[in-house]
Amino acid sequence: MNNFFDVIVIGAGAAGLMCAIESAKRNKKVLVLDHAKKIGEKIRISGGGRCNFTNLNTHPSKFISENPKFMISALNQYDQYDFIKLVESYSIKFHEKKLGQLFCDESSQQIIDLLLSECEKYQVTIHKDFIIEDISYSSELYSVKSLINTLSCQSLVIATGGLSIPKIGASKFGYDIAKKFDLNIISTSPALVPLTFNEDILKICKELTGLSVNAIVSFGKTIFQEGMLFTHRGLSGPSILQISSYWKIKEEIQINLSPDINVYDFLLQKKSANSKQDVQSAISEIIPKRLSQIICINLNINGKIIDISNKLLHKLSLFINSWRLNPIGTEGYRTAEVTLGGVDTREISSKTMMSIKHPGLFFIGEVVDVTGHLGGYNFQWAWSSGYVAGQYT
Ligand SMILES: Cc1cc2nc3c(=O)[nH]c(=O)nc-3n(C[C@H](O)[C@H](O)[C@H](O)COP(=O)(O)OP(=O)(O)OC[C@H]3O[C@@H](n4cnc5c(N)ncnc54)[C@H](O)[C@@H]3O)c2cc1C
Repeated sequence: MNNFFDVIVIGAGAAGLMCAIESAKRNKKVLVLDHAKKIGEKIRISGGGRCNFTNLNTHPSKFISENPKFMISALNQYDQYDFIKLVESYSIKFHEKKLGQLFCDESSQQIIDLLLSECEKYQVTIHKDFIIEDISYSSELYSVKSLINTLSCQSLVIATGGLSIPKIGASKFGYDIAKKFDLNIISTSPALVPLTFNEDILKICKELTGLSVNAIVSFGKTIFQEGMLFTHRGLSGPSILQISSYWKIKEEIQINLSPDINVYDFLLQKKSANSKQDVQSAISEIIPKRLSQIICINLNINGKIIDISNKLLHKLSLFINSWRLNPIGTEGYRTAEVTLGGVDTREISSKTMMSIKHPGLFFIGEVVDVTGHLGGYNFQWAWSSGYVAGQYT
């Protein structure tokens, strides 16, 4: 094998493959290396097997980064409609599930096949199960050393993703390379991840395992209204995953279990109508019965509404409309969909994704300090940042 390439991309995920395709379209000789035995595993498991590949509402406000403007250039150069055009060119059928989220009708494998077909079309070489031992730079070339050989290239693209789901190949490789080249890292943590709680709350969650409710979940001024799921480990579901990307350890979140109804007004109305209705059955009109049972038992409130003091009704309504609770942590990288933080965007040109200090060294996708909200934004960032790097490698 000739050991020189114009471009070596490390990481055959969404961002890496996109970058490789775009570089190869510009007649560059491109090699993609991945240590995993299978290509595109994260794409395969994404979106419950249907890959939520982009979002119609893609906008910089849907991303978290120490520099909230960093993603603007890449999203402008390659947006959701560009990727949709690519998907349509492969006749892949898709649908909007909700909130602009686009999913494949059939399977996420279609997106992997699309990327691999494009790689083949533009003669990208891919080596999987490839273990890299060292990376170095001299005489304007980057060298990638493995047990079997040393490869060199003019442009080296780091697309090794974040730390979530180590069992399908996540590693800290990208951060280590950044550190080796003296680039700053914004500290990393699991995001889009279920939250865990102490015994008191966990007991409630366990009793309600499997129950899903529409809820407003907030942390400070950040608010999400989507489904929330009780699990035997704590709380999950879209609204919790979204807030987990903002929540800070030791701080509280607030949950409104009945977003459309002010429960205190509702109960006072019933009381003034001289209602002999049992409080729990009244509450069951606005939240699921199992939930109303558990709340009433927990607060030790029962009997007819008319016999219950306004103070207690208020306490009950506060629990439903603004339940304040302190998570003790998250389920961690084992189940997190993404990693918050990463290579500091101040180290990278937002126009090209190239390191400012090290010409020819690029960082794209999740390894960079750009994290999308739930809903297809993380893949859009992978496509956009990969596309951009592909124009400048
Ligand atoms: C369960 C789950 C579901 C998700 N669903 C969605 C969704 O529906 N929509 C959405 O937008 N986002 C979703 N995400 C997030 C999305 O998958 C990621 O943000 C996206 O894949 C990041 O792309 P990437 O190319 O930067 O990294 P990755 O896709 O993680 O690719 C990185 C690649 O680098 C390789 N690699 C790592 N270390 C090394 C090394 N040392 N040497 C060689 N290769 C290495 C890995 O094997 C991997 O192939 C989901 C994530 C998870 C975990």
